[in-house]
This record gives sequence, C-alpha cells and structure tokens, in this order.
Amino acid sequence: MHIFEFTRPADPAAAINVAAQSKTAQQGADVRFLGGGTTLIDLMKLNVETPTRVLDINRLPFGKVEDVPGGGLKIGAAVRNSDLANHAKVQRDYSVLSQAILSGASGQIRNMATTAGNLVQRTRCVYFRDTAMPCNKREPGSGCPAITGSNRTMAVLGASDHCIATNPSDMCVAMAALEAVIHVQGPQGTRAIPIGDFHLLPGDTPSRETVLEPGDLITHVTLPAPIAGSKQVYLKLRDRASYEFALASAAVVMKVDGDNISYIRIALGGVGTKPWRSLEAEAALTGEPANAASFRKAADAALRDAKPQSENKFKIELAKRCLVHALQTAVNG
Ligand SMILES: Cc1cc2nc3c(=O)[nH]c(=O)nc-3n(C[C@H](O)[C@H](O)[C@H](O)COP(=O)(O)OP(=O)(O)OC[C@H]3O[C@@H](n4cnc5c(N)ncnc54)[C@H](O)[C@@H]3O)c2cc1C
Ligand code: SF4
Repeated sequence: MHIFEFTRPADPAAAINVAAQSKTAQQGADVRFLGGGTTLIDLMKLNVETPTRVLDINRLPFGKVEDVPGGGLKIGAAVRNSDLANHAKVQRDYSVLSQAILSGASGQIRNMATTAGNLVQRTRCVYFRDTAMPCNKREPGSGCPAITGSNRTMAVLGASDHCIATNPSDMCVAMAALEAVIHVQGPQGTRAIPIGDFHLLPGDTPSRETVLEPGDLITHVTLPAPIAGSKQVYLKLRDRASYEFALASAAVVMKVDGDNISYIRIALGGVGTKPWRSLEAEAALTGEPANAASFRKAADAALRDAKPQSENKFKIELAKRCLVHALQTAVNG
C-alpha cells in the first residue's frame, strides 16, 4: 500500500513552501496539490502517481468567479467545473466554455473537478495508466508501446517519436479559443501564462507536460472581455453520447459582419498532444465569406500537418468534419 502524508495548508504561502521542496512539479512529483481528486486519487490508486505528500488546497480562497474591472472574468482555481459551466456570465458571454465543460465526464465528476485540476489532468493513454507496461511519460526512457500498439484514440497533431498521447481536456480547448490566461503563484512570485504556452509538446521529454515548476500553485484563470456579437460553439465527437472523451472536438468563437468573418478563434480537442489552437484555420477564415467552401479550406489547413498512427487515420477526416460542422452551427445559430 502506498503511504503518504496528507495536510490542509492554511494559506497559499504555506502550500507553496511545502510544494517547493518537490524535485519536480511534473510526473513523479513527490508533493502534489489536491483539488477535486478525480484525476490524482484515480492515478494514486493505480500507483501511477505516488506522492509522499498530498496538500489539500480546497480551504484556500480560490473558489469564486468574479468580474475583472474593464471586462473579463476571473475564475478561481478551486471553482468546480459544474459551477463554472452553470455560471450566468459564462453561459451568456463565454458559452463555448460552458458547452465544453458540460460535454465532459459526468455530473458527479464535474461537481468535484476544479478549474486548476482540469488544466493539469493527465492523458487517458491505456499504457500510461498501466504500470506493468513501459511508458516514456510515466518512466522516461522506457519506451512508447502505443506507437506500435493500441493507438486509435491517440494524437495526430503534435506527437513525437517518444509519445503520441492525446490531451483529454474539453475545458482547455474552449479556454484556448477564448485566449485564457493562467495565473500562478510560486517561490519566485507570480506569473501570468497564456494558455497556449502552458501545456508543452511531448518532444523528447513527454514526462514534462506543463511549464509548472516545483511550488507553482495555480491561483486563477482570467478570460479577456467577451467578443460582443460573437457566436460560440463547442462540438464534441466521441464513441458514445456521454461519459466519454473526445475523438475529435472543435471550439469556435466567430463574428460575421455582413457576409464575411471579422473575428475567429478556433481550437481542436481529441486530436492534439495539447489543447490545439489552430492559427492556420483562423488565418484561412479571417475576412473570408462564412460559407461551406471557406470552412472546408480552414479545416484542411488545421489538419495539414496531421500525422496518423496505424489505427487513427480516421481522426483526420473526423476532425475536419467536426470543425466544418461547428463553424456551420455557429453561422446558423
Ligand atoms: C471517468 C472520468 C471521465 C472523465 N471524462 C472527461 C471528459 O470527457 N472530458 C474532460 O475534459 N475531462 C474528463 N475527465 C477528467 C476530469 O475533468 C478531471 O479529472 C478533472 O478536471 C480534474 O480536476 P480535479 O480538481 O479533480 O483534479 P485533481 O485530481 O485534484 O488534480 C489533478 C492534477 O492537478 C493538480 N492541481 C490541482 N489543483 C492545482 C493547483 N491549484 N495548482 C497546481 N496544480 C494543481 C494536482 O496536483 C494533480 O496533478 C474525466 C474523469 C473521469 C474520472
Ligand atoms: S503515448 Fe505517451 S503516455 Fe502513451 S505509452 Fe506512449 S509515452 Fe506513454
């Protein structure tokens, strides 16, 4: 049985001081923060995560959704996924985020899961979750059996020869399209990290998933002022209608003036090793007519660099159709 020390720090500084003693903030970290526990406890039961100290941060003052002066929203790290998805301002001004969160997991899990925990959730790769198997992400240098094995659900964008695991989050895909900023407090002070810079590509260090350093505590996430008049859609395609991760998903924030697209932000889920903002698709659509031909061109641009594995070539066309359908839905809505 895995033995660990469990404490509830009284304030952020106390939590940071203890976590700063960890050798890493990544896989294998000996000190972990505990949010809702829906990822961490799960992985501790499987012996994939084996921290010696678990810091329950649920007493820290990070549980509010607040307005930012001048526009925008500040979302506390401990805000539950359900509360965020059902918040009146999120539903009105950032509906892509509400739709994305509600498409994930189950009601019970969303009631526990926190904003910060969702940002740092781990891949669902079956080899990663099985300690009898090698896995470069879990045990650097041990190999990646997914490349020659079961890879139907793996990534087609951003993979490396060392890891092809998909980032599983729905929330992060919507946050990428909304250009969220992640705020961290750590031993060196505070930093604001645009979500596009928060998750790392696997490269030759797949065990390093984010830019977090030992002691870094996510305190909140900010969303910029909403885009007035924008249409927002999150479309998720999966093997069954609920309680299932995305095979492909698309988050779209779009504004059309006259016949042409004046503002567009696009991110894809289920296909990338990180939440996948597509600047290529955005460039292909900006100033273009909002019609089926432009949408298909943008989808082709988004998946141009996709590299399939033996079992997941279908994801490339699926993701393209997902994006086209999401864009069409945004126009019709
Ligand atoms: C059966 C099942 C189905 C699911 N389906 C989906 C799905 O369809 N879509 C989807 O997006 N997600 C899905 N999830 C994942 C779920 O969204 C995550 O488990 C959840 O968001 C994690 O949040 P948490 O608060 O429980 O994290 P925890 O388990 O508490 O923590 C996760 C990680 O975040 C770190 N952490 C927590 N708080 C902080 C902080 N403030 N600062 C720094 N690090 C922190 C922890 O140390 C840990 O490493 C599913 C999960 C399960 C179990
Ligand atoms: S894809 Fe990544 S997480 Fe899965 S076995 Fe390979 S290295 Fe491990």
